[in-house]
Amino acid sequence: MDIPVSVGPMNEGERVRGPDMYVELAGPKSYGFELTRIVDNASDKVEIIGEDIDKMEEGSRTPFAVIVNVSGDSLEEELEGVLERKIHEIFNYIEGVMHLNQRDSIWVRINKDSFNKGLRLKHIGEVIKEVYKGEFPFIKHVDVTFITDPDKVKEELEKAREIYSKRDDRTKNLHEEDVDVFYGCIMCQSFAPTHVCVITPDRPALCGGINYLDARAASKIDPEGAIFEIPKGNCIDEEKGMYDVVNDVVYEKSQGAIEAMALHSALDKPSTSCGCFEAITFYIPEVDGFGVVDRGFKGETPLGIPFSVLAGQCSGGQQVEGFCGMSISYMKSSKFFQADGGWKRVTWMPKELKDKVRDAIPEDLVDKIATEEDVSSIEELQNFLKEKGHPVVENWESMATVEEESPMEEEHIEEYEEKVEGVERVEYVEGSTESQDSEITVPTMYLPEGFGGFQSDVKIILKNAVIKVEEIIIVKEGNSKNKDK
Ligand code: SF4
Ligand SMILES: [Zn+2]
Repeated sequence: MDIPVSVGPMNEGERVRGPDMYVELAGPKSYGFELTRIVDNASDKVEIIGEDIDKMEEGSRTPFAVIVNVSGDSLEEELEGVLERKIHEIFNYIEGVMHLNQRDSIWVRINKDSFNKGLRLKHIGEVIKEVYKGEFPFIKHVDVTFITDPDKVKEELEKAREIYSKRDDRTKNLHEEDVDVFYGCIMCQSFAPTHVCVITPDRPALCGGINYLDARAASKIDPEGAIFEIPKGNCIDEEKGMYDVVNDVVYEKSQGAIEAMALHSALDKPSTSCGCFEAITFYIPEVDGFGVVDRGFKGETPLGIPFSVLAGQCSGGQQVEGFCGMSISYMKSSKFFQADGGWKRVTWMPKELKDKVRDAIPEDLVDKIATEEDVSSIEELQNFLKEKGHPVVENWESMATVEEESPMEEEHIEEYEEKVEGVERVEYVEGSTESQDSEITVPTMYLPEGFGGFQSDVKIILKNAVIKVEEIIIVKEGNSKNKDK
């Protein structure tokens, strides 16, 4: 079949903005999913249940599912997750097509140009078939089914969710200490060039689509591919999850951009984040704890900003201390940010997410973690935590004395703004603490090194941050001796 538009990696990274869009399939204002399954007998057919896009109104939005069934010799079920992740790449190969996210949070747009050139779903199905067979010689036959019938999407979505959760459960009894190798994935480097996912039994990839066993199966079948083995080497820090060989590999694969990576800390050398993370853990200095927000939550976090703005702080392959993209299933891991205190430091999360991971939250903390139903600002969050006796409150007093112990030289934020790009981040630090008027005082807080994307030799202190930010102080370590006063 002739495809009426170009197909190839040159189209990756193309965005389809609202005014250029012919149709939107699934996405945050609708629903849908993608699923790849290993079956006994696929027969190379492309099927559409519901309408193709030429029957859809221009500018409209439709629920959407993509189901790819593949068959071939010695295909293991473990490959499903990795093959499924490929759907994202294939859609983005096609001119005028944008695909974001994975599993049940996919978001697809097709632009007017490509629609007018004649592109239809059936063509996309053919491309999926060809790329699967071309890139994975072990795949013999591929069936692609698109569903645009809303009721049918809904019905199949439930089944898909059961399959995702079964996949995630497979690694439950396996831990980092039980294995000698981890896996790395650099599939997202096409748009996040320094991003490396390190996948361990205790830390599934942040896209939520690839767990340890998936990665193992993928690297076995295609050792030269985007997913590769990483011997874990010697443990440097067990709490943080730092290993010497892992650091070496991350350094090499990130083109020297990332020197070290802690698998279980969001504060110190956290994992890099590409942009496909299912959720973000973010440090809230005013409470010395974390918030967690997932992609599905459309409201604002207590910082007064939504997921999308936070995502902008830490995507693109950056290692941003204080922010970390992650999969939702990582929250069920016994090592969930253990170096930072794990659940004991989580202070806020959306209600729906909290319900989803409730079983993983230690019983005595469930009621101490606020949601959007309890609080809508930092001040309210502080009051809530105090009232509920959240463990972070115990640290507030000790934080107040830090400044006296280590006096440092001060430079003002304006100077910093002149030196680096990314003033937006400065605005975020200021904005997050705006107009608060609380009686709970945590006068001085040090943000961790590199917080918010600042250079790691710059320390940021929020003074009197709980009441309001009177001053943001930037101290350049090592410069203090030489600096004229
Ligand atoms: S987020 Fe990580 S694991 Fe998932 S596709 Fe991208 S690089 Fe691979
Ligand atoms: Zn990614």
